[in-house]
Amino acid sequence: MNCPACKNTNDHPPVLQLGELEPGLNVMSCPECAGVFLEHFPYTEWAKSAGHADIDKPVKINVKPSSERAGAKFCAHCKSYLVKYDVAADASFTIDRCGKCGGMWLDGNEWDQLKSRSLHTDIHRIFSTDWQSQIRANEHGKALEDIWREQFGSDYEELMRIKKWIDSHAKAPEVYAFLQAERIVKKSMTSSV
Ligand SMILES: [Zn+2]
Ligand SMILES: [Zn+2]
Repeated sequence: MNCPACKNTNDHPPVLQLGELEPGLNVMSCPECAGVFLEHFPYTEWAKSAGHADIDKPVKINVKPSSERAGAKFCAHCKSYLVKYDVAADASFTIDRCGKCGGMWLDGNEWDQLKSRSLHTDIHRIFSTDWQSQIRANEHGKALEDIWREQFGSDYEELMRIKKWIDSHAKAPEVYAFLQAERIVKKSMTSSV
């Protein structure tokens, strides 16, 4: 097994070596880039032993992968194309999964990053349709927030504070209707002048 990541830059990609990522979790790792290849079965067995009994529960695998295209890699095990998956809306890295054998490729620091998000025992969920559509929704929300921030400038925080107050109000729909009605009344008053 040669390193799928170093293959992009090196004519003689280094051979992956057997290593232990966590106690009881054997992986193939690259001596040069420190990337690791996790095979599906050993990973799920390890995750199960880490208390994730539901890991065998089938998740609907998302077929629409990350829009990131740079650095395409091929599976170390079966040579299939590795599909990139976004991890979170606020994460700057993607993880690669083989659609054929379920093997995963993690670049040098990605296991630690998954660990810091407590996702390392739960990676299978990242590939699910639910997880991926949640990321898209978060990204959409973030883009919308940027537009409003640009619109209101320094008033944005104050508006958010007021909105939060209204949203938590027992009569929130009535408060919004009131603000809207006030605005319509004022508008018709100015136009009649
Ligand atoms: Zn490598
Ligand atoms: Zn594969």
